[in-house]
Amino acid sequence: MSTYSIITYGCQMNEHDSENIAGMLEALGYIHEEDPWASNLVVMNTCSVRENADKRFFGVLGQFKKIKKSNPDFVLCVCGCMPQQPRIVEEINKRFSWVDIVFGTQNIAQLPELLENLHKTGKKQRAIIDNNPRIAEEEMKPVRMHNHKALVNITYGCNNFCTYCIVPYTRGREKSRMLSEVVCEIERLASDGVREVMLLGQNVDSYKDAIGNSFAELIKAVNEIEGIERIRFMTSHPKDISDEMIECFRTCDKLCRNIYLPVQSGSDRVLKRMNRHYDRARYLEIVDKLRAVCPEITISTDIIVGFPGETESDFEETLDIARRVRYDSAFTFIYSPREGTPAAKFEDQVDDVICHERFDRLVELMDGISLEKNKEYMGKVLEVMVDGLSKTSPNTYSGRTDGFKLVNFTSDKSEEEIAGQIVKVKITETKTFSLEGMEI
Ligand code: SF4
Repeated sequence: MSTYSIITYGCQMNEHDSENIAGMLEALGYIHEEDPWASNLVVMNTCSVRENADKRFFGVLGQFKKIKKSNPDFVLCVCGCMPQQPRIVEEINKRFSWVDIVFGTQNIAQLPELLENLHKTGKKQRAIIDNNPRIAEEEMKPVRMHNHKALVNITYGCNNFCTYCIVPYTRGREKSRMLSEVVCEIERLASDGVREVMLLGQNVDSYKDAIGNSFAELIKAVNEIEGIERIRFMTSHPKDISDEMIECFRTCDKLCRNIYLPVQSGSDRVLKRMNRHYDRARYLEIVDKLRAVCPEITISTDIIVGFPGETESDFEETLDIARRVRYDSAFTFIYSPREGTPAAKFEDQVDDVICHERFDRLVELMDGISLEKNKEYMGKVLEVMVDGLSKTSPNTYSGRTDGFKLVNFTSDKSEEEIAGQIVKVKITETKTFSLEGMEI
């Protein structure tokens, strides 16, 4: 009986790729093993968005050497965004020769063939494809993390080339799936009991299929699918978001009142050097339009601190835009130079001490705003889609509101009864990153 385990780093695109990889391995007869150190086959699905991702990856890779020594039949595979970079494959071949199979983000469907070749020839397998025109999503049978909600790719790759970002070099050029194919997949999911879908793409707003269907048209089509109760999407890009798409927050009753709209910086000068193709005025205009059609919408974002050349007054503009938008939550990062990206070569890198000092000020501001906003839910009754037992609080369940608020709550029901259901929860306590309550 062969067992497999997948170690997944990074974004939801990677999580969904891991679901597809699990599906292929189970189709080959492998059985899932939670503990990678006790498994016969391990797949490391890597992320390359920040420097420490590289360090962590090579650290874990090194630890598998002794497993391979004690069990020569053990198979180690590496995929994801790191091996899409030739320097990483060279490093693996030079220093980590016990890695059996290396493949990339564009050819995960090739894994069964690579495994077969490995077993037949005993030779190490290396297969990286740039810009694969066809990703064969419809042939995949993902092993989903949840029964009641599903990740659905709508686009692959990115054409934006933000100067700090490695993704366009690791996930290739942008490709949109046909609207009809996405709708078909979601209809199948709904018939399997899925009630919430997360539409995934590096930049969903630039979705346009081969016959010209836009992202707004896709949302409207998914909104018609029976059985689906909640529609979410990520990631939006202020440069491409359309009025037609914003209007969907008024007209599509299943579209969750929540948007993840990365701003990255509040300074026009820095946004220009990031190659983001919008300025703060345009960004604030979008936020105003969103709140005009949907006053209760919750907004989350990404902010990078310490981008090369960022001055104190640039940073003040970032703090200012955060105060004006009052985000419900934010992913905040210190700029991390990625080899192969233009910004990594910019000479005016910001001193580390200054980066950390600014990062701390930003986090303090963002956490303060998140807590204030969460306090507005005190005593309210919210509809929560239950994911299951809470990871943080014992004897409680956790789930998400329509606005993507994390709610931990008590209930007399069993997990079998309540998981995947939408229940009413009265909020009895508010925290910075979550709400607490009891089912009513
Ligand atoms: S939009 Fe920019 S930050 Fe996002 S994936 Fe594309 S290049 Fe990277």
